[in-house]
Parts: sequence; structure tokens; C-alpha cells
Amino acid sequence: MLTSNPSPETVLDRQCEQRTEPGYLAAVLGTAEYRVVVFHRGRALMVGAALAYLDPACLDPVYRDLAGDVLPLGGTHVYLGKVGPGQQHSLAAATDIVLLSLPLDALDESAEELSWIPSGAVFAGYRDVAQDLHAVDAQVFVEAQAVAQWHASHVRCPRCGSPTEAQSSGWMRRCTADGSQHFPRTDPAAIVAIVGADDRILLANNFAWNENRYSTVAGFVEAGESAEQAAVREIAEEVGVHLHSLAYFSSQAWPFPRSLMFGFIGYTDDTEATPDRTEVRAVRWFDREELQTAVLGGHAVISHRASIARSLIEHWYGGPILEPGEQA
Ligand SMILES: [Zn+2]
Repeated sequence: MLTSNPSPETVLDRQCEQRTEPGYLAAVLGTAEYRVVVFHRGRALMVGAALAYLDPACLDPVYRDLAGDVLPLGGTHVYLGKVGPGQQHSLAAATDIVLLSLPLDALDESAEELSWIPSGAVFAGYRDVAQDLHAVDAQVFVEAQAVAQWHASHVRCPRCGSPTEAQSSGWMRRCTADGSQHFPRTDPAAIVAIVGADDRILLANNFAWNENRYSTVAGFVEAGESAEQAAVREIAEEVGVHLHSLAYFSSQAWPFPRSLMFGFIGYTDDTEATPDRTEVRAVRWFDREELQTAVLGGHAVISHRASIARSLIEHWYGGPILEPGEQA
């Protein structure tokens, strides 16, 4: 679960220095002790509420199918890390975790019936499972999501268009023609809980959502802009509110496709707000009782508990907001 101040403890040790050594990933793949997380089209193989950590021995048929030229074309291995010390997880501490990102066309609709897929395992998207994930699984999932997507969309060099190939245990791609190096990218975004002078929160409903869904306002940081400047600009553009100050809250990787959300509490003296009617359909000020009542009654749906949006809202609220059917 995301907390207001994410712990600095190492949930997953990425082995950043070691993994750049030539042969590091190959050496891991040469052992029998590592475990494999399988990704396909942005979904991870899961058993119940946990990621499926496959014994490499059961993946032999997959590797046979992927032999030759298939693997580099959008599918690849990536070294993800070791389970951090002190983590209570089904995998032993220091177990190496490797991503197998399958090529986009590797599996069809009946994938879950393939022989190497464990009984009961299914491919699932992060949004659908995030709330119930163990902290280690959540970290593995977002890391795998981010890097798998990057590989799939960077098979060619942005300079010359030649094919690239994965190196550095899957954390770099090098152009096969000009040798240029390319690394996974992250797009910064600002996400803001707007708090008025009367201590109410302003939440927005976007056209992309159902009409009863309300959340914080977010937008991408533009080239040459600070996260704070982006926060103030986006809030003015989307809901017509002037923020006079910002307090940094925390950040969250949100690799859909590759965002890093910088969360702020934004303070305003404005009591009016105007949706831009382009992205934002409607806005609404809530005091604490109104918000809790609206959520319990199903009149307002707010972001799920694994999101920084929810954490920002609950930070303002002063504690957990109950969902319909829950009791204090
Ligand atoms: Zn090139």
C-alpha cells in the first residue's frame, strides 16, 4: 500500500552497479535459483492476488519458441532485482527476479491454456490488481511494466532508425549501426490536491471518466519547466484556480506509459473554480463530511487506494476514506 511518506527501505534491490557488468544477466540466467515474471501486452502473469514467480525450468517450451530472432523484436529479458532484506515475501530475500517480456504477438487469446502457464494463472493489468498487491509485487510490477513498455517501443534507434539491441541486463539498448546508447525514459507529471481557504478540497471529473468519478488534477511537466511551475500552470488551465503556495507530498511511479507523478498539496484563496470543458467536465468542492458521505452513498467515486491521488485526498482528509460497505 502507498503511504503518505513512502519508506526509504529497499523493497527491491535493483543491483544497479552489478547489472551493467557484461554477462551479469547471462550469469543469473545460468543458475536455477532465479524466478521469472512474465509480461505480455502490459499485463503480468498472476496467481490470485500475487505475481506468478515461475521456476525457469518450466519455461523451457517458451524459450524454445522464442529462439532465434524473435526475442529482440519487442520481447526481452530484463534483470529486475533481488527481494530486499527484511521483506516478508513468498520469495526468499536475495532471490533474483528476471522479467521475461514476451513479444507483442507471442500469445493469443487462449494464452492461459498454454502448457507452461501454471494452473489458475491469468494475465492481469496493474490497475485491476494494485490494491491487493504485496509491496514487493507492486514494486516488481511497476518496474516491469515501465521497462517492458520501453523495450517494446524502442526497437529502433531514434537517431538513424537502425535496430537496437538490449544490453546492461536489459537496462540499455544500443544501436546496431551507430552504437548510440538509449535508456528507459520517465515523464514527470505534477498531481495536485487543491485546498481552498475554507479547507475544502476541489476535485475534478474528467470527460474520460464516468460522471460520478472525482479526483485530483494532474498534468505533464513540459520541457524546461519545474514540477512546481507545471502544477500551478495545469491547475490554472484545467480548473481556473490560482495556487498561492504548494507543499510537496510524495512521488509515485505510474508507468502508463511512463509517468513519475510528483504529488503536491496546492493552496488557493479562490472559492470559485471553472472546468476547462476540454479535459475537465466538472469540478466540485467538498468538505470532509460531504466527501465521505458522497463516497459511502456511491455518489462520488474516488481513486483507488494504490494511487497517489487517493493518498493526497486522504492526507487532506486526515485518514482513510471509507468505501461503500465499509465501516469505521
Ligand atoms: Zn542509430
